[in-house]
Amino acid sequence: MSKRIDLEARYCASNYHPLPVVLTRAEGAHVWDESGKKYLDMMSAYSAVSHGHAHERLVKLVQEQVERLCVVSRAYYTDKLGPFLERACTLTGQDMALPMNTGAEAVETAIKAARKWAYTVKGVETDKAEIIACRGNFHGRTIAIVAMSSEPQYQFGFGPFPPGFCLVEYGNIDALEAAINENTAAFLVEPIQGEGGIVVPPDGYLKAAEELCRKHNVLLIADEVQTGLGRTGKFLAIEHEDVHPDGLILGKALGGGILPVSMFLARRELMAVFTPGDHGSTFGGNPLAAAVGLEALNILIEDELPAKSAAMGEYLMTALREIDSPLIREVRGRGLFIGIEIDSALSTARAIVEALMERGLLSKETHATVVRLAPPLIISQAEIDWAILQIREVIDEFDRLRLAS
Ligand SMILES: *Cc1c(COP(=O)(O)O)cnc(C)c1O
Repeated sequence: MSKRIDLEARYCASNYHPLPVVLTRAEGAHVWDESGKKYLDMMSAYSAVSHGHAHERLVKLVQEQVERLCVVSRAYYTDKLGPFLERACTLTGQDMALPMNTGAEAVETAIKAARKWAYTVKGVETDKAEIIACRGNFHGRTIAIVAMSSEPQYQFGFGPFPPGFCLVEYGNIDALEAAINENTAAFLVEPIQGEGGIVVPPDGYLKAAEELCRKHNVLLIADEVQTGLGRTGKFLAIEHEDVHPDGLILGKALGGGILPVSMFLARRELMAVFTPGDHGSTFGGNPLAAAVGLEALNILIEDELPAKSAAMGEYLMTALREIDSPLIREVRGRGLFIGIEIDSALSTARAIVEALMERGLLSKETHATVVRLAPPLIISQAEIDWAILQIREVIDEFDRLRLAS
């Protein structure tokens, strides 16, 4: 085994289960390992690298901005933050934004905003506010966020958890309506559950949730950390159903695959709950991150990455659905956000992912049975054709081995 793997295993907490490959370089949709072997990156850092690795415009901008101004904290104004947030608000139809770094921090920000809105605007009794989330959700790893997780492993050993969260079945509008009461501050939802296994809710679910929220004076907050910024074939996944949430969470690809950049965006009335000193982050909104975020948004629009994601996603999904094998129970997703559900009686997703890695295709299992495919949105049709061939051959191999044994 590689010395680098040994070293990392020895000194790094084992809170991940990496594939046994040591990456040293990347460009576009490809990464290279320490022996020089080339891989097609069909995972793109959990969708953080939608622009592709080392995008020329982003690399150039970072080099210039690093020398000019990087981190000054929000104790001062900068020339970079305003233009970045203005662009983000314009593109998403939101009024104001609060910049953070990681997705989890932006989700925490949304939770704080929703709770304070419940007390100061809706009139919920002190400390009684409730946030409804969905079973199978993934919103991050902080204590408050795992408090609303339905995944036992995310919670085990980390209690006690803050109260005020309630879980409903994802995709079930009646369950949502039944869970709403006078203390409900917000419904927090992923338009497609990502870590939950690329779970697409029934058509019309998000629109119906929006109407329910309006009717009951409940905030609708969309966590688009993973589904946003072109991943599902639209700029935002909520656009598939013309939904206008009260709050919106962005992250991952917002940093152009270079830096952690996230934000919570909201209607003015909701964001107005924050006053100086309420909430903050030392690095949130720093000029380097803001410059990168603005350029990342501009590239996304100018290079029409959402439309590319829609076209390439459709192409890839169609080809995957044509693979005829008992190993594949379902192929689902939207745009370049695709999950292949493996029949757990026949194999594991991890075994498929490892076989694909041997052939130079990097993907990642999510849960035991789903192979996740979420390549950079700049991926070419020729690269996708190559990926389809590898996936076909691996599935064939597994089928043949099983029949022979
Ligand atoms: C990844 C993810 C997060 C958390 O983002 P981090 O940057 O890892 O904190 C939150 N919500 C969703 C939907 C995600 O996919």
